[in-house]
Parts: sequence; structure tokens; C-alpha cells
Amino acid sequence: MIKDVKIVAVAHCILNQCTRWWNEEKELSKGMLFEVVKKISDMKIGIYQLPCPEILFLGNPRIELTKDEYNALVGFREHAKKLALKVASEIEELISKSRNPKIHLSGILGLSRSPNCSCYTAPLKGGMGIFFEELIFELNKRGFSFHLFDVDVKDLKRSLIDLDKLHGDNSSKFAR
Ligand code: SF4
Repeated sequence: MIKDVKIVAVAHCILNQCTRWWNEEKELSKGMLFEVVKKISDMKIGIYQLPCPEILFLGNPRIELTKDEYNALVGFREHAKKLALKVASEIEELISKSRNPKIHLSGILGLSRSPNCSCYTAPLKGGMGIFFEELIFELNKRGFSFHLFDVDVKDLKRSLIDLDKLHGDNSSKFAR
């Protein structure tokens, strides 16, 4: 009998806070968003950690930039596209090779207000962050559908409740 298991692809910094933008005037983030990780683990769902597109392009310390400013950075959109292609191919391979237990991509988890990893709320123009636009385009091209969530560090309680949707079926999942 084939067993099914779920995974959720999460923005890198959910598991590694020190990749968030930082400079001497800002408090350094460390560790992980443990409540989120614990909730996913308690649901018996696995985690696939996405790369952090910002630290891989600008490093740290770096300044805070908006989505428009990242879009205007020479080479950044190409960098995000390349990462998205690599990640989507890896997820596709992981899923196609997992015959038993069969892995399903149940959701993508981003960060509210991130110019790159938000599903809904990139600053200024709103909508999706740049890396997530490219990633979700690539995943949809491969026929995947999944839930989209943003963790809001200013409202973790609501974000944790949202994650309950990962238990649901595919009917409300995102597909372009
Ligand atoms: S780019 Fe994404 S992974 Fe990197 S710090 Fe920002 S939200 Fe986190």
C-alpha cells in the first residue's frame, strides 16, 4: 500500500533567521521561527528549505530594499529566476522519485512584507515577492498546485492558525 506524506517549502529564514537583512543599527536575528517549525512538525509534515535569494546576491550586512528596488538591481531578476529553476527542478525530482512513501508538495510558506519571499504582501506594490513569482511560475509549469501562506511575525498566532489548511484537500490550492 502506498503511503502519502506531505512537505511544505518554506522561506529560508524561517529555519535560519540570521539571513535576514542586517546592519549595525538593527538587532541581529538568530535561530529559527520555532513556533512555526514546531507546528509543521506536529502536523507530521516535512520541511523543504528554500534558498535565501537576498543573502546569495547581496550578502550581509545589506540594506533594506523594496520590491521595486530589487527589481531595478542589475542581474537580480535573473538571479531569482536561476534559483527558482534549480529549486523547482529539485522539488520535481524529489517528488517523482518518492514512490513509497509518496511525497506531496502541500504548501509554500513565505514571509509577510518580504520583497522576495512574500506570497501576498511585498511592500509598496503588494502582491508576491520577486523570488516567489519566479518559483511559483516554475512550479505551476510543472503542474504542481499547493497552498500559499505568509508568516506574519507581527501576528504569529493568526499565522499558526492558517497553517491548519495544510491538513485540507487540494480544492482550495493555488494554481495559475
Ligand atoms: S529573502 Fe526570503 S529567505 Fe531571505 S531573509 Fe528575506 S524573506 Fe527570508
